[in-house]
Amino acid sequence: AAKTGAIEWDGTGATADGHRVKVLGNVGSATDAQAAAEAGAEGVGLFRTEFCYLDASSEPSVEEQRKAYTAVLTPFRGKPVIVRTLDAGADKPLAFLEPDDEPNPALGVRGLRVAFDRPEILDRQLEAIAGAAQDSGAEVSVMAPMVATVAEAAWFAERVRAAGIARAGVMIEIPAAALTAREILDVVDFVSVGTNDLAQYTFAADRQLGAVAKLNDPWQPGLLRLLKVIGQAAKDTGKPAGVCGEAAADPRLALVLAGLGLTSLSMNAPAVRAVGASLAATTLAECESLAEAALATSDPVEARAAAAKR
Ligand code: PEP
Ligand code: MG
Repeated sequence: AAKTGAIEWDGTGATADGHRVKVLGNVGSATDAQAAAEAGAEGVGLFRTEFCYLDASSEPSVEEQRKAYTAVLTPFRGKPVIVRTLDAGADKPLAFLEPDDEPNPALGVRGLRVAFDRPEILDRQLEAIAGAAQDSGAEVSVMAPMVATVAEAAWFAERVRAAGIARAGVMIEIPAAALTAREILDVVDFVSVGTNDLAQYTFAADRQLGAVAKLNDPWQPGLLRLLKVIGQAAKDTGKPAGVCGEAAADPRLALVLAGLGLTSLSMNAPAVRAVGASLAATTLAECESLAEAALATSDPVEARAAAAKR
């Protein structure tokens, strides 16, 4: 492949031979959304709605939420945006959704699990998102964080559709969900891999703890092999499977992810152009061979070296 830096990106995420891999932005505020749009993101692959409420002491009303979400969606009128429902708990506590004292908050009632006890909070958020979709003109999909089983995915998708939102998906952040991605895709419209949490739960290594950061390296072959299962599920079902964790922001790893069958990559604004250019400089067959080489290794240093060689 030609050198990434030498290639201009035309703004449409695709390999050199035209295989589409959407390049999307991760956002948590209207400022982020503006930055992602200016960076050339084709849409939003992850809108972290809990970022709007890290300081809120009580649940925001439907009207307040609708306004806040509309401000984030407006730069993406006519473009795809995936809104994630509140991902509260562990590293992102929300005062109005605090669980009881838990010995291991990362393994506790967090993410979608909060909604099983209090579905009315989810339903109010879905109502606000549906309203913001209308107000902004963005093509809105909704996804849930921290989904463990097919039954949870089906439960969520039903509530999303009941709220009048056309497309429902879930995040794959738990190894059990990765291993059952095929069956999960049978009950939702798409999945998106949160590699930050998927690594944390695969390696039993706290994502916030520097002492175990080496285990959370997204080039770990153990993580890549789970991503392969998810990519295969996307190919088998013909449904989209994106990546919205930090892994997607590495222009070289982006090629491996495309080679594994992942269909979109979502990242912070500063990475958008480099990832777009990296894809544009490489054919799908080259991506597949990089993926195969990285998968065949047994540690992240070797995996990086294997994917750099070709
Ligand atoms: C992830 O876990 O990779 C992810 C994208 O979600 P967050 O970082 O917000 O937990
Ligand atoms: Mg996560």
